Amino acid sequence: MSKLAALPSVEKLATALAPQVSLPRPLVNLFVRREIDHYRQLLLADGEHTREEIENATQKGLREFANSRLQSVINATGVLIHTNLGRSPLGPRAASALQEIATGYSNLEFDLPSGARGKRAGYLETALACLLETPAATAVNNCAAALVLTLRTLVAEGKNEVIVSRSELVEIGGGFRIPEILETSGAKLVEVGATNKTHLHDYEKAITPQTALILKVHRSNFYIDGFIGEPEIPEIAKLAHEHGLPLVEDLGSGAMMNTDELAPIEHEPTPQECLKRGIDLVIFSGDKLLGGPQSGIIGGRADLIAEIKKEPFFRAVRCDKLILTTLQESIDQYLETKADPTQADVPVLKFLRTPSDKLRARAEEILANLPSENISITIEDTLARPGGGTMPRSEFPSIALKLVPKNQSISKLAKTLRLGSPAIVGYTTDDALFLDLRTIFPESDRAVQQALKSALS
Ligand SMILES: *Cc1c(COP(=O)(O)O)cnc(C)c1O
Repeated sequence: MSKLAALPSVEKLATALAPQVSLPRPLVNLFVRREIDHYRQLLLADGEHTREEIENATQKGLREFANSRLQSVINATGVLIHTNLGRSPLGPRAASALQEIATGYSNLEFDLPSGARGKRAGYLETALACLLETPAATAVNNCAAALVLTLRTLVAEGKNEVIVSRSELVEIGGGFRIPEILETSGAKLVEVGATNKTHLHDYEKAITPQTALILKVHRSNFYIDGFIGEPEIPEIAKLAHEHGLPLVEDLGSGAMMNTDELAPIEHEPTPQECLKRGIDLVIFSGDKLLGGPQSGIIGGRADLIAEIKKEPFFRAVRCDKLILTTLQESIDQYLETKADPTQADVPVLKFLRTPSDKLRARAEEILANLPSENISITIEDTLARPGGGTMPRSEFPSIALKLVPKNQSISKLAKTLRLGSPAIVGYTTDDALFLDLRTIFPESDRAVQQALKSALS
């Protein structure tokens, strides 16, 4: 019993800690209560903990919990589409449309001319089809949902086999694996070919009366090289169509323009190209190279899109008005700038095409106003990456501040910047912390400078 006397009172400790974090008080109470319960168990199990130790650990834990609240971050990693940092930022136009729709009523499912119930996303679907130069399109919550929905729609009892090449049975990350996605959808995976080579006759031999479709999955986060080969899309499309089967491609990124014209990177296939080559349905993410909100877009044959929209599961993964607004804005911008998509107001495309000497000038500006006593700071040529499951082979020139602190460790400095306000996330190597300018918004340069100043003082 005497040991338990080390436990502080929940109310008292919460009152002492609450002013240190800007969190709702009930959440502070809950956190502190859980922490003290945890120590009660440890003490009962014969642990040795003093009150001071418990109070300090609770304080540290509470601060870390407060840091886990969704907040904006300065991305100094040089990875353009960083899934852990929220993928693509929206441009100002999409953000202001979001503000307007979010804070008022809208015609989400209301037809203004007739005053009757209207079609959700009717305008967006037409705009998407127009942009993709295809008969029909729709959007759901993300690319994974779009794939599950498409498979669920196209497979049926007794006709549920989906043919996929063994070189495309990929894991996207976060537990998203093609074989498991297929299983979730009620499809039966039929693997063909080998890891490095798949021939047209491999696909042909696998077709049975139970085949529902052929699926292509873009190798978006890895590449294979060496003794490799696969049939061209038009050959697979011809084979599929001769057997009355749809050919579906999970493309992943969905760049709306030739990104290799913006930076020295490899060509990322566009959905338009895929559809022209004979893909019946293409599926891709809205928040990768497209630069829109998290969403999954499906475009292609009108009869298949109509079936997908009738599938009951569609209702479970449909987009809300906030997503529809920002996606509508993103798509309209691409349509308006079709002659020159580089004019679209998409931050990741801007970052991609910023010349390195511009980045260098900004780095010099930041550096000029920093103290130099406790640290060595230099401007380095680095490599940035598209990231987000796009172009795994592509690295392109960038510029970073290279920081080597003298009286603290690299990891300590990196942590101080991560825990600052705003949080700054760079990357470390054995001998330095790097802050890559390519993914930092120019308007954040000042905040970076301030954060460095205070971290070094
Ligand atoms: C990123 C990716 C996905 C998953 O997209 P989400 O929008 O995150 O669901 C699926 N397939 C491929 C090929 C991808 O690159």
